[in-house]
Amino acid sequence: MLAAMPPTPDATAPGAAVPDRGRADACPGALRLHPADDGALARIRLPGGLLTDRQALALAEAAEALGDGELETTSRGNVQLRGLAPDCGAELADRLRAVGLLPSETHERVRNIVASPLAGLDAPAGADVRAWVRELDARLCASDWATGLSGKFLFALDDGRGDVAALDADVTLIAASNGPALLRLGRSPLAHPVEAGQEVTAVLEAARGFLAALRTHGRRAWHLREVPDLLPVGSVPLPAPAGEAPPVGALPGGLSVGMRFGRASAGQWRTLVAASAGELRLTPWRGAVLPGATADRLPALAAAGFRTEPGSAWERATACTGLPGCAKSLADVRADAALALDAQAAGEFAGLPVHWSGCERRCGHPAGRWVDVLATGHGYRVTVHGPATAGSPADAGNADVANADVRNEEMAEAVAEARRTTK
Ligand code: SF4
Repeated sequence: MLAAMPPTPDATAPGAAVPDRGRADACPGALRLHPADDGALARIRLPGGLLTDRQALALAEAAEALGDGELETTSRGNVQLRGLAPDCGAELADRLRAVGLLPSETHERVRNIVASPLAGLDAPAGADVRAWVRELDARLCASDWATGLSGKFLFALDDGRGDVAALDADVTLIAASNGPALLRLGRSPLAHPVEAGQEVTAVLEAARGFLAALRTHGRRAWHLREVPDLLPVGSVPLPAPAGEAPPVGALPGGLSVGMRFGRASAGQWRTLVAASAGELRLTPWRGAVLPGATADRLPALAAAGFRTEPGSAWERATACTGLPGCAKSLADVRADAALALDAQAAGEFAGLPVHWSGCERRCGHPAGRWVDVLATGHGYRVTVHGPATAGSPADAGNADVANADVRNEEMAEAVAEARRTTK
């Protein structure tokens, strides 16, 4: 599909501003463990963030038996286990396979699918993107060509509310209540209408066409946004996606909770499973939705350390691993960030997302407009990144509107102020 199409009018010059993709990506997986400074790390893909209670318990058991006893959620609704022995891969694979979390050994790193976590809960008549998730996952795993995708290539299946559509995915499918679903390629402002019943086929064709276009033009890229000149021009303008995470607390159809920096101990995780009605959905905002769970479970979740009430500075606050897990870090960013966030009053308006990083790589930073808190070795630099106008490309108009070097004791105030930035 992509290779045969003419260049887009706003195409960048071939290769312009495209990072060197001459080497394979080093993304960890469930079978390809990454040697981190606190032991090996495994990333387990969970398409749509979907887990049964049995699968969730198996992850907690694996974290305790093989790792450091913690489960870390990612910005794609996946789970990471850390502190693993370098030779535990076979046992981890056996544990995952036993509960259906390793359906393909050849494709496990390309099962990067995010989906609207509240789909079917608060608007039961809306699109059931879970059916798309399952079909896409199964067909992806059955496609030989798909092993050519990078472990970073992302599919987003949005039920029409514009939440995961804001996550800068490579291929985004957006359901519509009064018309055909729309397919967005990379960061294009124009989408393609998709014939009913052909939604997942269109998503797969877009990914396959991307690989074919790279081959045809002798280009290397991990993401569609790196080769906008190879993308076909869409016909339907897309409204700016809201990009809102589910609020925490009791919701129509279930419960939603937040986790501090997306991490939970195996014990906390078991509390989460016990509160569920048999199904968990991990969100790309490092929280969890429990479909069908009832509000009487909220006190137990709050007591276990989950965020269950909205209006906290912890909302949309993330941090990279930092010290001691990553030797590149200039600080224990999670400890410093926790102090700054706890120092802010409960109920204080949080504003923009904020992300703490121990070095310039800024692992796991959010998409869109966000507050960047970067360790400098003698404190932190606080900067606002991203386009001021919602919906404009993430790398357009990247103006720094606040840029301050602060000592740790000044950080809470500086971050709170930067998060209130509106211009
Ligand atoms: S941003 Fe830097 S310090 Fe933080 S996890 Fe990534 S490499 Fe390590």
